[in-house]
Amino acid sequence: MEKDCVFCQIVEGLKPAEFVYQDKSLVVFKDINPHAPVHLLIVPRRHIRSINDLQEEDVNIISEMILRAREAAQECSVAESGYKLLFNVERGGGQVIFHLHLHLLGGWR
Ligand code: AMP
Ligand code: ZN
Repeated sequence: MEKDCVFCQIVEGLKPAEFVYQDKSLVVFKDINPHAPVHLLIVPRRHIRSINDLQEEDVNIISEMILRAREAAQECSVAESGYKLLFNVERGGGQVIFHLHLHLLGGWR
């Protein structure tokens, strides 16, 4: 855990979040400042700074994140209407929390 990392604090239960799913490798919670009617964050428990820091051996966690996003979309009833999955990468890519996360955005009419 990185002690100054907000998402590490959420993963460790030191900071509140509205969880919709948790397992041994990742958590899913609602974005505190939603940009869509449904805005979830899929977050690995392990601190990885960004997509740039992925290693070959991280293939499993990335696959799990995407498959979990698919499940969450079903559970939030946006699978059929459609949704966006987004990684912001580093400052120029709009990343402000430097703990890897996948945005799930959907639910527009
Ligand atoms: P990014 O720009 O990709 O780094 O996105 C970070 C996201 O985390 C933003 O959409 C924020 O609204 C969201 N966020 C920041 N702090 C929290 C928090 N404590 N709980 C839930 N979401 C948060
Ligand atoms: Zn972290």
